Parts: sequence; C-alpha cells; structure tokens
Amino acid sequence: MTRIAVLVESAEGERRVAATPETVRKLRALGAELAVERGAGAGAAIADEAYAAEGAILGERAAVLAGADLILTVQGADAAGLEGSKRGAVLLGVLNPSGQPQRVAGWKTAGIDALAMELIPRITRAQSMDILSSQANLSGYKAVIDAAAAYGRVFPMMMTAAGTVPAARVFVMGVGVAGLQAIATARRLGAQVSATDVRAATREQIESLGAKAIFVEKVAGISGEGKGGYASEMSDEYRAAQAELVSGHIAKQDIVITTALIPGRPAPRLVSDAQIASMKPGSVIFDLAVVQGGNVEGSVADQVVTRHGVKLLGYRNVPAHLAAESSALFARNLYNFIAAFWDKDSKSLALPADDEIIKAIRLAQGG
Ligand code: NAD
Repeated sequence: MTRIAVLVESAEGERRVAATPETVRKLRALGAELAVERGAGAGAAIADEAYAAEGAILGERAAVLAGADLILTVQGADAAGLEGSKRGAVLLGVLNPSGQPQRVAGWKTAGIDALAMELIPRITRAQSMDILSSQANLSGYKAVIDAAAAYGRVFPMMMTAAGTVPAARVFVMGVGVAGLQAIATARRLGAQVSATDVRAATREQIESLGAKAIFVEKVAGISGEGKGGYASEMSDEYRAAQAELVSGHIAKQDIVITTALIPGRPAPRLVSDAQIASMKPGSVIFDLAVVQGGNVEGSVADQVVTRHGVKLLGYRNVPAHLAAESSALFARNLYNFIAAFWDKDSKSLALPADDEIIKAIRLAQGG
C-alpha cells in the first residue's frame, strides 16, 4: 500500500501544511495510507485529532517517514530530514531549486524523486494543481487587507451628517493573479481603484473589475507578453515612459499594491524613493515582490519601514499569514496532482517520464 507522509514544515515563519483532513480523506479514498507528523497542522489551526478522525496515523517524524513512498510538504525538506523514507520516494512541495541548489544535490544522492510544484506549466490540464495561482490569489487579498489596516483612514466614501469622507485611492501595479484579487478586494472595500501592467491583455481585465487602467501609450508595439502568459523584460524606452506615467499618478494615491514579477529575474523596480516622497504622509505601499528583490525602493521583508511618512510593508511569506485557507488550497492542489497521476490498479503514483507536467517539475530521480 502506498504510504503518504505529511511533515511539519521547518522554514521559519511557515505556518502552512501540505495536507488537510479533507485531503487526507480523499487520499485514503484512493487507497493510500496517511501518516501525519504530530503538530503538522498547528500553524493552520488544524488539530492532530482532526487528521486522526479522517483515519491518518499520527506520529513523530521518524515513525511517519518510515517506509513512506510519497512525502507531502509545503517547502520541501533537506534529504537529511527525509531519512527512513523508501529509496525512490517522491517528494512534493515548493522546492525552489534555483534558490537552494544544494538541496537538489542532497535529493539526488539520497535517491529522492523530487518534484517542484511551483514549476507546473500553465496549461489547462494543470490549472487545478497550480499552487502559484492558489497562493497568489490569497496574497493579493491579504496585501489589501493589511494595507487597509496600516492606513489610518477609511476605504469607502461615507456620506454622514457631519460631512463626506472621501474614498481611498488604491493603485495596483502588476495585474497577474495577485493583482486581480487585490483590485477586487479594494473595490469591495469601496476604494477608488486604478491599475497598471506591461501586458496589454490586462487592460480589459482591469476595466471589467471596475478599475481604471493606467497604461504606457506612447511606446508603440509593446504587448509585454512573454512566454507562458508571463511578462517579458521591457526596453529602456518603455521603462522611462512607465516611470514618468507612474510618477504623475502615484502622488495622488493613498495605497499602492505592487505585485510585478518576471520569471527567473529579479522583480522589476517600479517605485523609487523620489516617488514615495511625492505621496501624502500616511499613505501605505504593500510590496508583494519583496522577497524577489522588491518592486519598491527601501522595502524590507517582514518589517514596516517608514519613508517620507509613507509606510512600506511586505512579508517574506504572505500566504503563511492566511495559513488555514492557503493550506486548504495548497493541499487540494497537491491532491489534484496526485489524483491525476494515480494508477487505480496498483493504487500508487505513476509518473510518466515523458509527460509534459512531469518533465517540467522533476528535479531529481533515481540519483
Ligand atoms: P506574475 O506573478 O509572474 O507577475 C505579476 C504581474 O506583474 C504580471 O501580470 C506581470 O505582467 C506584471 N509585471 C511584470 N513586470 C511588470 C512591470 N515592469 N510593470 C508592471 N507590471 C509588471 O504573474 P502571474 O500572476 O503568475 O500571472 C501571469 C499570467 O499567467 C496572467 O495572465 C495569468 O492570468 C496567467 N495564468 C495562467 C494560468 C493557466 O493558464 N493555468 C494560471 C495562472 C496564471
């Protein structure tokens, strides 16, 4: 019988867990045995008993890993932390091979079959397994909520007997999955929202959410669309035009949410210190790209930095700040992956080496 181990996360500040009682139930229904490390769900407010109630075996790490065929994690684990699992065991998680290449070497030596879930291609078949989207969506929401909390004023326009309170102006820079959710969240709170992106295709999405699109118009022939629907790096001419456009706009904003990323490159710098200085004191900027180098000059992960009276926020791990929901979605992404590659006859994972998804995510196999 396939034995699936669910581990306690070791990364600092990580509160998510890779399986929930719901996915334990579904994985058991596939015919697997589930072993959950004691305390794995604590950060996401899931008690050990909730896993046990769905038929999981609870235990300490060594007992959970003993004979494991498949290991579920959020951020992976070093080979040394996987001792006791079967040779050839499959490890699933956000494995960050470019950031932590030494771990990949460890998995090779240990014979682990390491699959990096963040590398899943953005094809229709893989949508339900796409952890980047499920987590980015929550991040976009959380950025607005925390910016609103740090902002010492209100979001919606209020007409009261004592007079009118104006709506906050929110500007979202980068309209991918997180940015779209940020726009929607800020709109729900009653803010007046505008947004920008380098990909021309986002204009319609911004407008359909009731926000104003702010776009570089004077540099012709740019769609900004790179490989796989991601952004490409822009020309110097475009960047200069973008900076000018943003400078005029940003000074009038109360809240700025930045989400811009370019795969495999440092995050583009979108907001300079001079632009921050042009904003009103009390304004707030949430930099969702802070870990990838930051879109905002001076932002520091997990710290509130005040520059020119403007608060700069950014977390190393935004989804971990909403651990219950982010775990629920992450765990379903893993379940959907497993179910898609499950061989019903042998009741075990079958990962064809020539499958487009497997080819994209496999970091190490058979040494
Ligand atoms: P991302 O996290 O890589 O980047 C966030 C946004 O920043 C993107 O919209 C990008 O265009 C933008 N950006 C980059 N450089 C910028 C700059 N200099 N100025 C302004 N904005 C800049 O993006 P994402 O959230 O992963 O989404 C990228 C695209 O992939 C979207 O169109 C999304 O809808 C699509 N997507 C498709 C699937 C699928 O088909 N399965 C799944 C998820 C996302």
